Amino acid sequence: GPGAAGPRPAKAGVPGVTHIIAVASGKGGVGKSTTTANIALGMKANGLRVGVLDADIYGPSVPRLFGVSGRPEPVEGRILKPLDGHGIKVMSIGFMVEEDTPMIWRGPMVMSALTQMLREVAWGELDALVVDMPPGTGDAQLTMAQQVPLSGAVIVSTPQDLALIDARKGLNMFRRVDVPVLGIVENMSYFIAPDTGKRYDIFGHGGARAEADKLGIPFLGEVPLDMDIRINSDAGTPIVVADPAGAHAAVYRDIAARV
Ligand code: ADP
Repeated sequence: GPGAAGPRPAKAGVPGVTHIIAVASGKGGVGKSTTTANIALGMKANGLRVGVLDADIYGPSVPRLFGVSGRPEPVEGRILKPLDGHGIKVMSIGFMVEEDTPMIWRGPMVMSALTQMLREVAWGELDALVVDMPPGTGDAQLTMAQQVPLSGAVIVSTPQDLALIDARKGLNMFRRVDVPVLGIVENMSYFIAPDTGKRYDIFGHGGARAEADKLGIPFLGEVPLDMDIRINSDAGTPIVVADPAGAHAAVYRDIAARV
């Protein structure tokens, strides 16, 4: 991992947590949360101890993705016990607020909630804590990238030009705060019609790989647009746990191993 020989990070780490990895996207709806959940579950399948921190203040989706709800209980003092989702410790900004509370988070409120989720949760010993970042590259995202002691970041993009432009902004954002970008995942990369087996590149294809090559960062893998991925995410059993022997799970485990 990064950092051993490098300059000492100014940000204090989270005791017991070896690596904190952000999953980010330049815009919403590209599959960032789906990717976060499946990469985390892929890491677990690869034998790592994993936690997921849902920092997507605009639309926390980890509770739905992992099929968990309720308020985390305190274990001692202010320290909260994370919930368990498929053997992964999960904590979400969605657990801290009522579902119909308008998400009008001001900068300081976001930061205190984030700090609480990092420092006042009994994460225990983790090889990796995967953070589902809010989409975009605005102030909130920059502050988070700055405040959270990140080992690295994964960028999720669709193959579309527009998404790639946004992904590039994400890349620059992490560079500004000296967080290494571990690579790009191309989501909704292609579609195989289940009835005919014919392949369609709905959003184009290969854009993320070309962009990664150009920018000199790793290309981590491509995930197809597939109904089973969506259905299992909605059911709270992401594809890596729903169909661990399937092709999609293999892709996510592979991506997880490269992060
Ligand atoms: P984001 O976190 O970027 O806003 P989500 O992960 O919530 O995006 O995904 C948006 C929607 O697209 C969800 O309904 C999700 O189930 C679906 N989705 C994401 N990736 C895929 C995929 N590869 N195939 C099919 N549906 C997907």
